Amino acid sequence: MLSYVQKLLAPKRDTSCGDCAAREAAARSAATGGKYTLLNAAADTLRGDFATEEVRQARIDTCKKCEYLAMGSNCKLCGCFVHIKARYAGASCDINKW
Ligand code: SF4
Repeated sequence: MLSYVQKLLAPKRDTSCGDCAAREAAARSAATGGKYTLLNAAADTLRGDFATEEVRQARIDTCKKCEYLAMGSNCKLCGCFVHIKARYAGASCDINKW
């Protein structure tokens, strides 16, 4: 458990090219069964690992057109509030729409 927490809280590296960020996010997500969980979100909040405003808005725009969005904010698949989930750089849609 301790190594898992240490892995989640590992210092953020320079990922300006984007590829490393995607790989690291996938590795962190894999540690929680391939899903982006509340634990991932908590760790990313501590690390300051947030998506850019453009990325966040593009994700929300995708969700707004999705058949699984309920009440304008809640994903029926993952149960997340999409406007919050979209803020995290390492988050992803469970059916790979973003
Ligand atoms: S997270 Fe994915 S499945 Fe959920 S509402 Fe957004 S696009 Fe649809």
